[in-house]
Amino acid sequence: MNADLHCHTNQSDGALSPAEVVNLASARQVDILSITDHDTVRAYHRITEIPANLRLITGIEFSCQWSKQGIHIVGLDFDINNSVLVAAIERQTQLRQVRAEKIGHRLARAGFKNSLEAVQALTENQIGRPHFAQHLINIGAVKSFSEAFKKYLGPGKIGDIKEHWPGIENVISIITQAGGIPVLAHPAKYKLTRSKLNSLLDNFSQSGGKAMEVVSGYQSREVSENLAQLSHKYGLQASCGSDFHAPGKSWANLGKIPSLPDNCNPVWARWT
Ligand code: AMP
Ligand code: MN
Ligand code: MN
Ligand code: MN
Repeated sequence: MNADLHCHTNQSDGALSPAEVVNLASARQVDILSITDHDTVRAYHRITEIPANLRLITGIEFSCQWSKQGIHIVGLDFDINNSVLVAAIERQTQLRQVRAEKIGHRLARAGFKNSLEAVQALTENQIGRPHFAQHLINIGAVKSFSEAFKKYLGPGKIGDIKEHWPGIENVISIITQAGGIPVLAHPAKYKLTRSKLNSLLDNFSQSGGKAMEVVSGYQSREVSENLAQLSHKYGLQASCGSDFHAPGKSWANLGKIPSLPDNCNPVWARWT
């Protein structure tokens, strides 16, 4: 089963349109796809045709926080018209706007005037830090996305706005009320100590979290097996996704991810 349950379109910080992502997934023999744009489900309102060989599951990647740490929770297979979910997305959109204004002010103080205006010209959709990174590249302030995050936008830098997002319990509750499955996204990417990661997983499962990404993009077998063990320990199902954003980028490609370790309990089994 080729399941890719985490990817992005140009409705958040991805490069391809929703139709292009769906067609690329179909061409790559993906059986089950979920588009999980940051804090929006707009992609699902843009898709008019789903290829016959593809099962499309509704998805979103919520920005939230836990113990001062920015955390991402993916929601899968919910009702996109659920009123609790629609209201939550509206709040996230406002929080993104407020955050973009704060980042714009801070960059102005660092000498980069009118960054917000420039970023607003780059997208009509949700503004994220990658749009600021693109702007910093465009004006020659940095050479790459990774340099932009390392110098200005990443953890502890001026563009990192703290204590901004709702807590994980809140986001888990919203996804659950909309009939969906809360999935902890890319647990290895937060660079937590072993005890903090255990504490996060404990908190996530106690709060109603149902699954975690055991495979996210290209990652070593060792990391996947370690995460598979943690999924058993905390009674979480295993999800997998490329976290695809754009063709040719160093992160994983749509539909091309390592398989889940054999002993996993895949979250996608319910859709087969
Ligand atoms: P935001 O949603 O605005 O908080 O921005 C987070 C997004 O920035 C992630 O989903 C990635 O797409 C991107 N990102 C985070 N860290 C890096 C990095 N070091 N280099 C390039 N892109 C990054
Ligand atoms: Mn992203
Ligand atoms: Mn993420
Ligand atoms: Mn993502």
